[in-house]
Amino acid sequence: AALLEAERVSFTYPDGTRALQHVTLSIPEGKKIAVLGPNGAGKSTLFLHFNGILRPQEGCIYFAGVRINYSHKALTDLRRQVGIVFQDPDSMLFSASVRQEISFGPLNLGLGREEVGQRVEAAMAVTGIADLQDKPTHFLSYGQKKRVAIASVLAMEPRLIIFDEPTAYLDPRSTREVMALLADISSQGKTIILSTHDVDIAYTWADYIYVLARGQVIGAGTPAEIFSDA
Ligand code: ADP
Ligand code: ADP
Repeated sequence: AALLEAERVSFTYPDGTRALQHVTLSIPEGKKIAVLGPNGAGKSTLFLHFNGILRPQEGCIYFAGVRINYSHKALTDLRRQVGIVFQDPDSMLFSASVRQEISFGPLNLGLGREEVGQRVEAAMAVTGIADLQDKPTHFLSYGQKKRVAIASVLAMEPRLIIFDEPTAYLDPRSTREVMALLADISSQGKTIILSTHDVDIAYTWADYIYVLARGQVIGAGTPAEIFSDA
C-alpha cells in the first residue's frame, strides 16, 4: 500500500518560478525511493509538500490513504510521521550539545525522560556518534554534523524519512558511510526517500526511481526499467 501519494501537485513561488507542475507519484511503505534530478528540478519543493511545510496550490497529498486537509492537527500528525534530513546540517542544529540536539524533538513530543533517553541512545548508536554526545554541535566536522542531523530525525521515529541530497559535498569515504547508514535504517523497515543528482547512487540504492526535471516527473520505474531506455 502507498504510504504517501502526491496527486497532480503544482506549486509556483511568489516570484513566478514554476517549481512543480502536475506532479503525481506514490511512495510504497517500506521501500527505498530515489528522486533523481538536476539542481533546480523541484526535489526540495516536493519534499516540503510531503511534510506540510508547503501546501499544494493545485492537487493534493495523501498520507496513509488520508487526504491532508491542512488543519492544525493534520499538520502536527504529518510532521511526526514524515521526517526530513535537509541538505545543510547547519540549518538543522540549534542546541548546545549533541545529546540536547537529539533530545529536543522527542521532548517536544511530550515523551517521558526514560523514553527520550532510550530513543537518543538508539539514534546515536545507529549513526555512530555516541562518543560525541557532550560536544557542542558547532565544533563538529561537516560529516559529524550530518550524522547529528540524521540522528535527530531518527529519534522522532517517523514512518517516512526523507534525505535531501545526503551525499552532497561528501568525499567518497563519507558517501559510502552515509549510504551504509541508509541501508541500516531501511533494513529496520522504514520507508526512505532520497534525492540525488547522482545516477549511480539512484541506480545501486533504490527500489524505485522517479526522475524529476523542470518541476515535472519525466520518468518512473525500477532502476532496470529507467536505465534500459538509454
Ligand atoms: P532542487 O531541490 O531539485 O534543487 P528546488 O525545489 O530547490 O529544486 O527548486 C525548484 C525551482 O524553484 C528552482 O528553479 C529554484 O530556483 C526555485 N526555488 C526554490 N526555492 C525558491 C524560493 N524560495 N523562491 C523562489 N524560487 C525558488
Ligand atoms: P568527517 O571527518 O566527519 O568525515 P569532514 O569534515 O571531513 O567530515 O567532511 C566531509 C566532507 O565534507 C569533506 O569532503 C569536506 O570537504 C566536505 N565539507 C566539509 N565542510 C563542508 C561545508 N561546510 N560545506 C560543504 N562541504 C563541506
